[in-house]
Amino acid sequence: MPKESLDVSESLEMVKHVARKIIEAEPILTDADRNLGDGDHGIGMQRGMTAVLEKLESESFSDIGSIFNATGMAMMSSMGGASGALFGTLFRSGAKNLAEKPVFDSLSLSEFIVSANEGVQARGGASPGDKTMIDALDPAANESLKSKELPIGKALEAVACAAESGRDQSKGMIATMGRAKTLGEKSVGHPDAGACSIAIIFRAMAEFANN
Ligand code: ADP
Ligand code: MG
Repeated sequence: MPKESLDVSESLEMVKHVARKIIEAEPILTDADRNLGDGDHGIGMQRGMTAVLEKLESESFSDIGSIFNATGMAMMSSMGGASGALFGTLFRSGAKNLAEKPVFDSLSLSEFIVSANEGVQARGGASPGDKTMIDALDPAANESLKSKELPIGKALEAVACAAESGRDQSKGMIATMGRAKTLGEKSVGHPDAGACSIAIIFRAMAEFANN
């Protein structure tokens, strides 16, 4: 039987797995940002997720929201720059409705992604189609709303596929936000680096929940 939900300690391990997968993907994220930006996204995310691992290993957690909130705080304080603020906002906005929740189920997953998506759009001002992380996050949010009744592993699998498909769709888009904006039509043909990170984050969650 697939698990319906993850408890606090399983959720903590899930986020640590996400952090390790992002750290491991540094060369992929560096290449993606080199194609469209200044090439620092991989190193920035690696630094952020190293700080996340340290924080999650040194503190104790009694609910799901505080795990995601600590993740966002660690990213914000260690990464700096626009993407530190944006990824920090993603996890901290996502944590909002999960305070005091002892389980992470597919309903909490959709609350997490929907608030994360709203938070990042409000903070950064990007919308779907601008060729940013929103192009992976927004389809993931929509998919999570359709997956609210599923066991957590199945919901995460659907969300990860939606984020990956959003990342792939971002290849065809013209950048209108961030550093890639200056490339105009030359930005077509490469996926957005932040969208690549989003796809890795949800794929790592799905991998953890289905193992
Ligand atoms: P920087 O652009 O400061 O070099 P990074 O390279 O770490 O920061 O991150 C770049 C990523 O940040 C982009 O690929 C894009 O996904 C995301 N991004 C940039 N600006 C915005 C924005 N306004 N809203 C959402 N995401 C954004
Ligand atoms: Mg960059």
